[in-house]
Amino acid sequence: MERLLDKHWHHMQALDVAELLDVDPEMGLDRFETEKRLKEFGENVIATKRQKTALERFLLQFHQPLVYILIAAGVITTALGEWVDAGVILGVVLVNALVGYFQESKAVKALDSLAKSMSVHATALRCGTAVDLAASQLVPGDVVLLRSGDKVPADVRIFRTKELRIDESTLTGESVPVNKQASSVDKDSVLAERTCMAYAGTLVSYGQGRGIVTSTGQKTEIGRISGMIDDAQELDTPLTRKITRFSHVLLIAILVLAGVLMLLGLLRNEPFTDTFMAAVALAVGAIPEGLPAAVTIILALGVSRMAGRKAIVRKLPAVETLGGTTVICSDKTGTLTENQMTVQDIFAGFGRYDVSGTGYASSGSISPAGDAPHTTDNAALHECLRAGMLCNDAAIRNDGEQQIVLGDPTEAALLVSAEKHGLSRQDEQARFPRKDELAFESELQYMVTMHEKDGEALLLMKGSTERVLERCDTVLTAEGEMIPINPDEIIEHQHAMASKGLRVLALAKKRTTLSGELGHDAVASGMTLVGLQGMIDPPREEAKRAVATCQNAGIRVKMITGDHAITAQAIGLKLGLRGDSCNLGEDCPVLTGKEIGELTDEELIERVQGVPVFARVSPEQKLRLVMALQSLGEVCAMTGDGVNDAPALKQADIGIAMGISGTDAAKEAADMVLTDDNFATIEAAVEEGRGVFANLVKFIAWTLPTNAGEGLVILTAVLFGATLPILPVQILWINMTTAGCLGLMLAFEPMEPGIMKRPPRRPERPILDKVILWRIGLVSVLLLAAAFGLFKWELMNGATTEKARTMAVNAFVIIEAFYLFNSRSFRRSPFELGLGTNLWVVGGFGIMVILQILYTHAPFMNALFSSAAINLFDWFKIFLCGLIVFIIVEWDKKRTRTDI
Ligand code: ADP
Ligand code: MG
Repeated sequence: MERLLDKHWHHMQALDVAELLDVDPEMGLDRFETEKRLKEFGENVIATKRQKTALERFLLQFHQPLVYILIAAGVITTALGEWVDAGVILGVVLVNALVGYFQESKAVKALDSLAKSMSVHATALRCGTAVDLAASQLVPGDVVLLRSGDKVPADVRIFRTKELRIDESTLTGESVPVNKQASSVDKDSVLAERTCMAYAGTLVSYGQGRGIVTSTGQKTEIGRISGMIDDAQELDTPLTRKITRFSHVLLIAILVLAGVLMLLGLLRNEPFTDTFMAAVALAVGAIPEGLPAAVTIILALGVSRMAGRKAIVRKLPAVETLGGTTVICSDKTGTLTENQMTVQDIFAGFGRYDVSGTGYASSGSISPAGDAPHTTDNAALHECLRAGMLCNDAAIRNDGEQQIVLGDPTEAALLVSAEKHGLSRQDEQARFPRKDELAFESELQYMVTMHEKDGEALLLMKGSTERVLERCDTVLTAEGEMIPINPDEIIEHQHAMASKGLRVLALAKKRTTLSGELGHDAVASGMTLVGLQGMIDPPREEAKRAVATCQNAGIRVKMITGDHAITAQAIGLKLGLRGDSCNLGEDCPVLTGKEIGELTDEELIERVQGVPVFARVSPEQKLRLVMALQSLGEVCAMTGDGVNDAPALKQADIGIAMGISGTDAAKEAADMVLTDDNFATIEAAVEEGRGVFANLVKFIAWTLPTNAGEGLVILTAVLFGATLPILPVQILWINMTTAGCLGLMLAFEPMEPGIMKRPPRRPERPILDKVILWRIGLVSVLLLAAAFGLFKWELMNGATTEKARTMAVNAFVIIEAFYLFNSRSFRRSPFELGLGTNLWVVGGFGIMVILQILYTHAPFMNALFSSAAINLFDWFKIFLCGLIVFIIVEWDKKRTRTDI
């Protein structure tokens, strides 16, 4: 089919396109043909921006200031003839790069597998039926169905539209959605003007449409701009950037200091080798080079843990922000509630009816409510149920005893209630064949279908009571007469249902002679109300618990819904939602979209924090709510599923999309996707986020004293003109082994009990607050005292410099190993936590001790690191130092008892 290439599809008539691509637009391709074409054209996938190769990533590990210093030091030591030192330094550089490489690979892999789990789906017409398939399976000639929220799966020549609007900003940069239509355009119109085409990667922002796939994969417009889609996961987060900046500043400061040291030494006429070694030791010791990488690893581990709890993090920074969330704005339907709709109350022909039965099984019946005199022999009831059945796009599939809902649960509930009245969808559809429809959109709050009846058009509408009532001037009686409507009377009935927490849908009809396309003006007035149906959607049990947990954790929970205020309030009460200082309903009313619309930004900011429930809110208002909350300094998480939620999700500190019911547009805009659409999962992710952040701070508080202590030891030695207690290669040994064997074990530290019982971390609070800075200073000084003290003592007692240095190195490592146990919590002692709760720390301690024994007693280590054997009593002294530091820090902890 080479002849298909580079056609001006936009200039051809849709029918010609269909002919050329050999497809019937009403039927789609068959299986045989699609398989053949798939072989010929390949899968519909676009190669993403070239990822770095393994070699490149390995080489990049050397591109760090510290490594440059080390390499320079290695070269100079070689020039000085210090072969062993030079070898060790360069060896460390290599090992360091390898470790960095493997750590980074692990992080990249964890994130990549998540990105892949979010593949794009498409709806295509195959053999006359619409099927949902992976977008990669599309071939040229496939007929695809587009609807708002979808990502266009391939380049498509559109042949039918219903107010189709597409956001092509990914391709053209133009952010205003483009109106699409079916007729061809000029041959030389540019991409942005080809209104009959939809291009892969763009987003349907409104309406529906159908089109024929013209090109797939690399042949699509976006595929041609190779590498434009950047799928690579960013490993940078605000925190790692902050830390990188911090270590750069430190680097320069320390290099200057090292330079001054050398100058000082040379002025004092000390040998060049010695002063040079001191300067290198200072630089190597004091720079926390491993910090950014370690932070990335800890965050990546957090991503995997959250994935295990059904929260897929799309952007690494979210892990960091989640822990600091102060407000969660959540959808009601499906997130806080089960989305298991069952019609319970009906109002029709001025009579009220009860519906029995639960779930989507059609067993159950409709009976007059209370002791009312009416019967179910009611023309309005009949029409109300029929309208609900016909103005409906859902389906229920029976899978044994179970019913599986395809489509919107709200609509499925209406199918069930009609079935309980004995209506059959097949029969009704045959009697009233559907000719056209206006799909449900959240902003409109209604849906309309057009049916043919005796050569006339029958319009059926369902939607929110407000929207439907304002279009009705008559109401149907039980006898089937149309009489003038009294809206207040209807609203009273709707309130009665809504205050029980029922979601109410109003149904209306209209007969017209209308032919041709159905538009919104056709239902603008003159409708006849046929009835109301109220359906229950029970709150999720686990959401109730999660709401309580969040509120105890100082996180405000706000429910945002398109539903009616009274319904929303009833559900909010069942969920236990609270205002700041008031109880929902009594002195703390629900804020409605209409009221929000009347408030200025300042007024909204004033009110937004206190209100727990927002009803009849439009997606645009969600954006205003997020911005109002943020201007109050809140860290705001916001959920969403529709295409119009995307701006609010982008604006929120944590945008959360629904994995099941969410559109592609929402998922793309989100930082996190819930695979189970459940509010409890947000709470779990916040909890994990708090845990991850705590572990990060613990790691930083543990690691910095090593650097500061080493720096202090070198500085002290130089200032007092003493021999260096630790040599550069020994410092390298300490830094490498302790970071890997000890520090990283804190990443596996389980969440501390009570992590959800304290208020969220304020965003303005520095990572290293007073208590932590003090702790770092304290441990650094203790390290200095122990290492320098032991070193001097040994020398005074006639030990060799090698042995004295071995004592100093061991003191450093063993103290850090003990301090690791302290660092597991800022509040609790390790005995309170239980040693068994993080066996990694215990294991790391063990490995570290073995390594130090090797370092001290193995001859090849003695040769490499100029270490020397020590006796048992020396070991005792070293462990005593560790124990003393441990006790001092525990005492300091008791004094400060802080939370992170
Ligand atoms: P939610 O935030 O609870 O999901 P929606 O925006 O989906 O709210 O719905 C808002 C209102 O629109 C509902 O209260 C209901 O009256 C009406 N509605 C919901 N779904 C449909 C539908 N499929 N067809 C017609 N009207 C609907
Ligand atoms: Mg909804």
